[in-house]
Amino acid sequence: MTPTIAKIIWLACGLSWFVLRFQPRQHSRMTPVRFSGRGPREFALLAGSLTGLGIVPFVYVVAHFPRFADYPLIPTLSYLGIAVELSCLWLFYRSHRDLGHNWSVSLDLRERHTLVTTGVYALVRHPMYAGFWLMALGQALLLPNWVAGPAGLIGFGVLFFGRVAREEAMMISAFGDEYRAYMRRTARVVPWLY
Ligand code: SAH
Repeated sequence: MTPTIAKIIWLACGLSWFVLRFQPRQHSRMTPVRFSGRGPREFALLAGSLTGLGIVPFVYVVAHFPRFADYPLIPTLSYLGIAVELSCLWLFYRSHRDLGHNWSVSLDLRERHTLVTTGVYALVRHPMYAGFWLMALGQALLLPNWVAGPAGLIGFGVLFFGRVAREEAMMISAFGDEYRAYMRRTARVVPWLY
């Protein structure tokens, strides 16, 4: 394992994620939105997440910047990073399949929105966000750089903590007691813990 191989693996995982998202993105575009919680705040959260999970590591991978923050690669961490990235891709695949046309990149309720509580949604309420946490962790384990590695954890952390309570409030406004009951029997991202 070398830093170059670790970078190529990070890129390949990012590309696979993009391909996995392609069909759900097309699908959701065809389903009209009936309520949207989008606004400057959501835009800023999405921009922060894109910066930490995408732009900062991409600049590091292609331009090796910032070089001063490099540290020696630890192969065990890189292999762990590969396993984490693979589980992330699996979780994205599963959660997109389970969420179907209800998916949205932001806070939206679609026409014919249904509450999904089965598949990976039976385990946790936010499996896709769990997937993003895994993606951010994989990035930190794969990229031996003190800036590019942890950037995803910070960028996605800001989005997650800035959004999750508002998303749940939106789901309560749409599904009421059905969502409250779902909240009582599931954790947010880590089964039985949080
Ligand atoms: N937070 C979820 C979904 C992310 S996609 C996850 O991490 O898996 C964001 C959109 O999904 C939100 O706009 C919301 O409308 C929708 N959503 C969230 N949970 C849902 C559920 N259990 N059933 C149906 N739609 C849901």
